[in-house]
Amino acid sequence: MRTVESWTQGRWWSSSDGARVVVDAVTGEPFASVSSAGLDAPGVVAFARGTGGPALRASGFRARGTLVKELALALKARRDELVELSARTGATAADAAVDVDGAIGTALVFAAKAKALPEGNVWAEGDVEPLGRGGSFAGRHLLTPLTGVAFQVNAFNFPVWGMVEKLAPALVAGVPTIVKPATPTAYVAEHAVRILVESGLLPDGALQLVCGSVSGVLDELGGQDLVSFTGSAQTAALLRAHPAVTHRSARFNAEADSLNASVLGPDVAPGSPELDLYADAVVAELTCKAGQRCTAIRRVLVPDALVGPVCDALVGRLERVVVGAPGADGVTMGALAGPDQRAAVLDGIERLRAAGPVLTGGGPPERAVGADPVRGAFVAPTLLRADDAQVVAPHEVEAFGPVATVVGYRDVPHAVDLLARGGGSLVASLVSADDAVVRAVVLGAAAHHGRVLVLDADCAAESTGHGTPMPQLVHGGPGRAGGGEEEGGLRAVAHHLQRTAVQGSPRVLALLADG
Ligand code: NAP
Repeated sequence: MRTVESWTQGRWWSSSDGARVVVDAVTGEPFASVSSAGLDAPGVVAFARGTGGPALRASGFRARGTLVKELALALKARRDELVELSARTGATAADAAVDVDGAIGTALVFAAKAKALPEGNVWAEGDVEPLGRGGSFAGRHLLTPLTGVAFQVNAFNFPVWGMVEKLAPALVAGVPTIVKPATPTAYVAEHAVRILVESGLLPDGALQLVCGSVSGVLDELGGQDLVSFTGSAQTAALLRAHPAVTHRSARFNAEADSLNASVLGPDVAPGSPELDLYADAVVAELTCKAGQRCTAIRRVLVPDALVGPVCDALVGRLERVVVGAPGADGVTMGALAGPDQRAAVLDGIERLRAAGPVLTGGGPPERAVGADPVRGAFVAPTLLRADDAQVVAPHEVEAFGPVATVVGYRDVPHAVDLLARGGGSLVASLVSADDAVVRAVVLGAAAHHGRVLVLDADCAAESTGHGTPMPQLVHGGPGRAGGGEEEGGLRAVAHHLQRTAVQGSPRVLALLADG
């Protein structure tokens, strides 16, 4: 069994005390042990603040953008190692590409965006605002790096992308990072960090990794630090209530769970190419990463009259999905990350059954190519149909796997109302070519979603898809989705900087804006 190590204070280490054993998602065999017992939390935070921060800020925004680019290329050179290892998490090569290539692409976007920043560590934002009639007194916002540490707690589903999308903007900003990966897939995150460390590019203390419990780290954090969390709403609530956030004002950002929906416009006719486009998108979202994407479509909102044709189109496609071991012949969908995740998904399906019948799937698959369907963490692609749009379960229960529910709507205002019943979501999508429908749905949904995608024949060929957050644009959502914002290009870098309103003479402001 491999021992997953942590990288702190310039060395790799592990502990055997209180280790958690992680199983191979496909075989169910023990694969890795994870423990951080004995972690010197104050020492880790002090090393980041005292060594990593000053080393990073010895250069400026643009040079650190170049560093992020070089780190992305280091990952790219060894991406096959990460893809191969990811098979242990149940990920097919296509799933792993979303994680690994997605991480590399995201880092490259942040590196490119950094070219628009100044050379130094002062980002003068907006115009100089005149504050006196005579023109001798003015003000301007200057953004400078926080002097603390970015503590990043990640979910199990994207061990590489989830880490890099937080790490890249922190590095560009000049703030050192402590990464805490989720235990079930920590061995993939550990390998990615090993690649970054072995590249020799990172200044000492710029990146540390703690695999296992991080108890004590939050106790060290305060007003110059950030906590960036991805995971369940429950853990988000726990961290948000810590005195580091409530009393000492560490910046807190949460990306939590989400009941994303996709709407089929009432203008789409049965048998039309748009209906095929819609069904293909729903199936792609349901099966990619075996449905373990925070942005996956959970609610399939279709006009009442089209519930039958859409269900038929989806069931036909889902029954052609080949479940099994990543890499085995013909397999198009892998396993969930482990037995705990499978148990949670099966429990979610049971709760969703209250809404209406299971049309396909509903439990472990009858067979898994190249694997034992019971020992591996497999769940068959599952589609349910809500008997009534008003039932609660589809709008409240997130089964974090290959599971979606078809819900019929009466008219466009009803569809908008159902979108909002997710309580705040990361993303909604719409397939429609009717301008009035597009306006009503997008503007009606906007307040409840961090991202809205409109799919039509004009953009279908180039669309990046419902489930893929783009680093140029905001990823996050209100309410249940955590209320946070990540990515969004330079906005994510600015999140790690203090905006200070500096007032003085225009000459002094110009002097300071030069860094
Ligand atoms: P989770 O159980 O909340 O765990 C998330 C992270 O928090 C893990 O690294 C976990 O570590 C850590 N953690 C748990 N308790 C902690 C504590 N007391 N102090 C510090 N860290 C703690 O969530 P998950 O099961 O990994 O992820 C699934 C959920 O994440 C789903 O609900 C999904 O919707 C959501 N998600 C959201 C997004 C998004 O961008 N919005 C993306 C991906 C996933 P351990 O693993 O060691 O317990």
